[in-house]
Amino acid sequence: MNAEIIAVGSEMLGPTRIDTNSLFLTDQLTTLGVEVVAKAVIGDDLALLTETIRTAVHRSDVVILSGGLGPTEDDLTREAVAAALGVGQTYRAEIFEGIAALFAKMGRKISDNNKRQANVIDGAEVLANERGTAPGQWIRTPRGGVVMLVPGPPREMTHMWTNQCQPRLAAMVPPLAIRTVWFRVSGMSESELDQLIAPAYKPYTNPTTTVLAKAGDIEIHLRARCTTAEQAQALVDEVGEKILALLGERIYSRNGDPLETVVGGLLKERSETVAVAESCTSGLLGAKLTDTPGSSAWFRGGYLVYANDLKRDLIGELNGPAVSEETAVSLARAAAERAGADWAISTTGVAGPDGGTEASPVGTVWIGVARQGGAAEARRFRFPGDRTRVRMFATQAALDMLRRRLSPGAKVAESTWLSNA
Ligand code: ATP
Repeated sequence: MNAEIIAVGSEMLGPTRIDTNSLFLTDQLTTLGVEVVAKAVIGDDLALLTETIRTAVHRSDVVILSGGLGPTEDDLTREAVAAALGVGQTYRAEIFEGIAALFAKMGRKISDNNKRQANVIDGAEVLANERGTAPGQWIRTPRGGVVMLVPGPPREMTHMWTNQCQPRLAAMVPPLAIRTVWFRVSGMSESELDQLIAPAYKPYTNPTTTVLAKAGDIEIHLRARCTTAEQAQALVDEVGEKILALLGERIYSRNGDPLETVVGGLLKERSETVAVAESCTSGLLGAKLTDTPGSSAWFRGGYLVYANDLKRDLIGELNGPAVSEETAVSLARAAAERAGADWAISTTGVAGPDGGTEASPVGTVWIGVARQGGAAEARRFRFPGDRTRVRMFATQAALDMLRRRLSPGAKVAESTWLSNA
């Protein structure tokens, strides 16, 4: 079964508002096994809207229109749907009275314009709006499809969808079991990852595989749809196992948890704590770690040592350049010591756009990890992209270095592209 979503309203054609309703609706439709094949944003233009609806109804089983159900002249969705389906509208006094009662409750005066909201497309079921004034409508088409009109404001739309549209649509579509697997991976580029795992997932159209990449963080989503849950589970397991075998320890999460939560979990399991000493990431690493609820159990705090004299305050004399293995190691050791933490992570690098040298071009970052009173190490990375991306990559790589140190018995698959480039 196919669907189209039409967002109505000229405001969404300007530079300040975007159509977020269709993202929610797409997610909901996909879960029901209904595939969204087209989306449109149409301004308050009756002819264009009518034509768009006519085309959509002709080629898709489900057409959802959000917005344009208000009381004013430029709220045209009802008129356009009636025109596209070649049917009329009937004024329903009881709907107007219901809206009038709502206005009275809010101490507002209703205007004659609101009568437009009581017009019902012939053959439509009215969908009550429990969070606003504009009622929705549900219309079956002669071809066995359905057209839905839902309000534009997201809190009204989502409520009406969940309580009225979703159950009606679920009764129309064949039962579908969906099973998903969600891996998160660090230490690789998207293209490198795809090259590695494509042979495992490409032969399958079910499950579908989606790879989403951010700086230093890649998500792999597998989604199988079958008539039974067992079949769907077997399919995601089959492909998931193949991907797992290829990526091994590079997969840091199998349930969608972000890296900082995984690191926090490992520290908690070991009843250990971490501190940070940050130069080029100045605060990003600490902020990430404390994004995780309960981080006070394992995060001690840290030091922002952006300027070299502050680095010296923490470690005494610099034994090498500010961006170097020696400095990264010394910062990590000193942070663990000074903060009384079991572990510390440090970053020192050149985020750019200026400051690069031949020895340390822009994008070079040394990351150190130290265990208090134990081993310390640092690795050199060369990250691509602008300042923001370099700092994001460095934050992820620092968390990942600690994760690999903390993972018991992990056979560490070193990241191939990030280091020593
Ligand atoms: P109401 O009469 O209750 O306002 P309506 O159906 O007429 O409902 P619109 O006037 O079209 O809704 O939109 C009201 C507001 O809802 C918009 O200004 C916008 O903030 C938000 N909105 C509308 N459509 C969307 C959309 N597709 N995605 C996100 N927000 C939307």
